[in-house]
Amino acid sequence: MAKQEDNFKKVISHAKEYGYVFQSSEIYDGLSAVYDYAQNGAELKKNIREYWWKAMVQIHSNIVGIDAAILMHPTTWKASGHVDAFNDPLIDNKDSKKRYRADVLIEDYVAKIEGKIEKEVQKAAKRFGDTFDKEQFLATNGRVVDYQKKADTILKRMGSSLEKEDLADVKLLIEELGIVCPISGSKNWTDVKQFNLMFGTKLGASAESAMDLYLRPETAQGIFVNFLNVQKTGRMKIPFGIAQVGKAFRNEIVARQFIFRQREFEQMEMQFFIRPGTQKEWYETWKENRMKWHLSLGMGEENYRFHDHDKLAHYADAAADIEFRFPFGFKELEGIHSRTDFDLKSHEEYSGKKLQYFDHEMEESYVPYVVETSIGLDRMFLAVFSNSLKEEELENGTTRTVLKIPAVLAPTKAAVLPLVKKDGLPDIAHQIIADLKWDFNVIYDEKDAVGRRYRRQDANGTPFCITVDHQTIEDQTVTIRHRDSMEQERVAINEVKGIIAAAVDMKSWLQKMS
Ligand code: ATP
Repeated sequence: MAKQEDNFKKVISHAKEYGYVFQSSEIYDGLSAVYDYAQNGAELKKNIREYWWKAMVQIHSNIVGIDAAILMHPTTWKASGHVDAFNDPLIDNKDSKKRYRADVLIEDYVAKIEGKIEKEVQKAAKRFGDTFDKEQFLATNGRVVDYQKKADTILKRMGSSLEKEDLADVKLLIEELGIVCPISGSKNWTDVKQFNLMFGTKLGASAESAMDLYLRPETAQGIFVNFLNVQKTGRMKIPFGIAQVGKAFRNEIVARQFIFRQREFEQMEMQFFIRPGTQKEWYETWKENRMKWHLSLGMGEENYRFHDHDKLAHYADAAADIEFRFPFGFKELEGIHSRTDFDLKSHEEYSGKKLQYFDHEMEESYVPYVVETSIGLDRMFLAVFSNSLKEEELENGTTRTVLKIPAVLAPTKAAVLPLVKKDGLPDIAHQIIADLKWDFNVIYDEKDAVGRRYRRQDANGTPFCITVDHQTIEDQTVTIRHRDSMEQERVAINEVKGIIAAAVDMKSWLQKMS
């Protein structure tokens, strides 16, 4: 646990030191759970957004993208169920006066049991070596089976109590499990209460006539209310999707874990409109498609897993998360939800407008069913950033800090470094930049010894360093150094663009999905 916390602290301080993420309004001591993306962070975020957009919109002829407003008519949130049901179950510890999400306390308890299972697996894998069969071990080892049973029973009970709104039982479960407050160490808990997560605001000039609005807690509703507009103007035929990327706001009670849980964040969502009855198939298809997208980035298959929901949101008939191994353990990165016709039906009811599709093949009108994929851009950022940060021991006994961001997402693709600040080398470096800058983000760096500059670019996540030296003047070649392998090769200046392009080209990364 201590090591995990240490690693996470390193991630946060590295993000600040290298211009990726700053605390919002830091000069005023910050605003809790609100963050600003700095010069490198904004680029990384933009690249992730683009990687998602191309995968969802550009390569699918039946998916289009929109950009709806953050402010929506307030009835939207009555219809969507957010006014009545977008709550988190809260519990306070009477001694520390700290507030927690009851479900998160229980999930953290279960995560500890899962940690024990993982330890048993690691021990056994060591003991049995090559003959180790993980699946068989999980299914037959007595201790592991008991742990798994316990974890499942707890989650099931929590799921059903939350669904039945039986908050007394959620408290009872916390008490039975002997969960203590991480601050005070006591079990002195209040009752569990529901707390609505939407931020309210007002529209209008005078207090009397102002209209109460909410900042959208998800981008999806902007898609639902525009469903018919897009379908008609785009002449879309079912099945088709509408995607969007945008800000969402939630008054999170327990906002810790850096950019994992923020009060203002960005979602990348896609609603896929389908014939009723086909939701199971499409749900599976999108689960698979989204997992492939993640794996295409090469961040390690072992760092992802599916988690099927026991507790379903008010709108869903099936739901799963893609969980990622963050520095604090496996947590939700993306949700895939089979939302039925809940949203469109409800908007029909509240607006009095028909939101139906006429299916020419079936010769009938119906309210389409929806399968949604919903990923937090900031969580994806944290997944990429934390997974990329490595401390490596080098052969000469020193260590280096390197940010191995997949080259396609790296904020800066190359740094151009004159070996010395004289003899015309800076001029050649600037000429190289003048050529490369039309295709890539590139930077110039002439300060310090070249070894220190390499380290700086490693820590910054720059996949290539291009060094101009005296030989360059003679034969128009430069040294290109690869961040991950630290290998260096001598290449002609006119080959550089092609080498970088091959490594960062989105198309070839995305094609790994198929
Ligand atoms: P959690 O259980 O972690 O609160 P959720 O199930 O409420 O998340 P969804 O409503 O399914 O999340 O939202 C879809 C995605 O939006 C999540 O998978 C996550 O990546 C992202 N997300 C949700 N809440 C936040 C937040 N407060 N900060 C950053 N990203 C978030």
